Amino acid sequence: MLTRHRDTASSVLHRPVTVAEAVDLLADGSASVLAGGSWVMRGEIRGDGFADAYVLVSGLPELLELRRTDDALVIGAAVTHAQLARFLAGDPHLAGLSAAARTSANPAIRRVATVGGNLATIDFAAADLVPALLALSARVTLVDAAGERHLALADYLASRPDAAPGALLTQVTVPVTPGLTVHERLTMRVAGDYPVAIVDAHVRLDADGLVDEATIAVGSVEPVARLWPSLSSRLVGAPLDAGVAEATARELAGELRGRDGVEAQGWYRLQVLPTLVGRAFYTLQQETGQR
Ligand SMILES: Cc1cc2nc3c(=O)[nH]c(=O)nc-3n(C[C@H](O)[C@H](O)[C@H](O)COP(=O)(O)OP(=O)(O)OC[C@H]3O[C@@H](n4cnc5c(N)ncnc54)[C@H](O)[C@@H]3O)c2cc1C
Repeated sequence: MLTRHRDTASSVLHRPVTVAEAVDLLADGSASVLAGGSWVMRGEIRGDGFADAYVLVSGLPELLELRRTDDALVIGAAVTHAQLARFLAGDPHLAGLSAAARTSANPAIRRVATVGGNLATIDFAAADLVPALLALSARVTLVDAAGERHLALADYLASRPDAAPGALLTQVTVPVTPGLTVHERLTMRVAGDYPVAIVDAHVRLDADGLVDEATIAVGSVEPVARLWPSLSSRLVGAPLDAGVAEATARELAGELRGRDGVEAQGWYRLQVLPTLVGRAFYTLQQETGQR
């Protein structure tokens, strides 16, 4: 069972060299995963404290893989935001994910914060990569003492609060399908702030330029990022239209429950969300115009 201390000096740091060794160290639940440390290191400020022991996974070669084929992107859990942004620069099929990795936090954090840490941090509602990967129908790979499992990202997010300790997220797999993607985030003041709301969309157009498929995800508005299937289905069968997307989002915004937080109240997040949806669709319209 994990116990908590006020400072990291009381914590033991394990440095496994393989995933199998890391999983062994995590198996009895007495140690916690440490990746980039950008969330863990602020444990005292949040009042969470620190674990008895940490298993450092950021150097594990299996978790540093970054590979793109014609139809899939594989991202090791220890890949940082900055590494992912560099790898995806100019990739026309993954512009949304690329923007999420490139614009989250600030340069210093992007150099250390990992993809796995972004997805695994239960109490972090404003994670940029989560809605970006939801909109792309990403899947995650988890390894624990019982073996390897593959889960849709949405199912993984839902399972996190009740998950038994000891599972290591090793990989994220993103199917690369035709279409356009976008990542829009709104911050209150400066780019380094946590976003008040995030919208990601993946849209495929048919031969007539009408929306054939749409997947829209929202981050930072509710405690956990989510897909917005009712909005997605309302936009199918029509041309890309930022005004219609914004008006439809405003009509459906009551389906979400805005969370109160230090950067903004829940009502404000819901108020700005339709505008952000409109902005995302405007960006997509611009992209189609350029093709
Ligand atoms: C000032 C500041 C601003 C930030 N702004 C943003 C922002 O705007 N957008 C954004 O997306 N992020 C932002 N971040 C980063 C974000 O808050 C998290 O800190 C980061 O995503 C966590 O990644 P990490 O690798 O540092 O994880 P760590 O701090 O090492 O770990 C975080 C949690 O995830 C668990 N964990 C980590 N890796 C794994 C794994 N592979 N398997 C299982 N569990 C794992 C750990 O046990 C821990 O519970 C910001 C951070 C700071 C400090």
